[in-house]
Amino acid sequence: MSLSMLAYNELVDIYGISEIVAFTPPPPPLVERESEDSWETLEAELADCKRCPLCKTRQTIVFGAGDRNAELIFIGEGPGHEEDLSGIPFVGKAGQLLTKMIEAMHYKREEVFIANVVKCRPPENRDPFQNEVDACIGFLRRQINLVKPKVIVTLGTIAAIHLLKLDAKISKLRGSFREYEGMKVMPTYHPAYLLRNETKKKDVWQDLKQVMALLGKQP
Ligand code: SF4
Repeated sequence: MSLSMLAYNELVDIYGISEIVAFTPPPPPLVERESEDSWETLEAELADCKRCPLCKTRQTIVFGAGDRNAELIFIGEGPGHEEDLSGIPFVGKAGQLLTKMIEAMHYKREEVFIANVVKCRPPENRDPFQNEVDACIGFLRRQINLVKPKVIVTLGTIAAIHLLKLDAKISKLRGSFREYEGMKVMPTYHPAYLLRNETKKKDVWQDLKQVMALLGKQP
């Protein structure tokens, strides 16, 4: 079955035919404008965004939070229930664990930038569909270009494969640096996964220690 057919069937399951018609034709691709971009432009373009079907079920667009000049960015896949309500990324249990990870690296949470691949919550916390990622990831790429961090830490498979355009499980990707537009990227496990698999915390700490070393921080 073709990818477009798969996406069509997914939309039928979730929204029904009438909603699909409402989203046809697909929105124009997001223009990425590095040289003239600004946070104000980005915020204006994201306000009340309806570029993908996730706008139908979200409560809030979760823009991202933290230091816009940070040397370190953390990227997850998308908002969960509590993030959808609050508009703040990583505030649930997984978010609390992420905060501990950040503090273990000798940063305050407000000293790093935190964002997601999609800015609206996928229903039931499912993985975002390809068409949703395609519609939204340009915003993330523009955020990264505006922050210009030294290091990006991706959390979980979804963030790693879509940012890096790779096709592999996080268990294969984690543990070594990749490159994204001249910036170092360390893929590691998502804190939500760590809540279910405590034994993987030591692997994440190994990954984060490599990041710390690159940033001149002592473990
Ligand atoms: S997920 Fe992204 S592209 Fe889709 S509606 Fe939300 S902000 Fe727009």
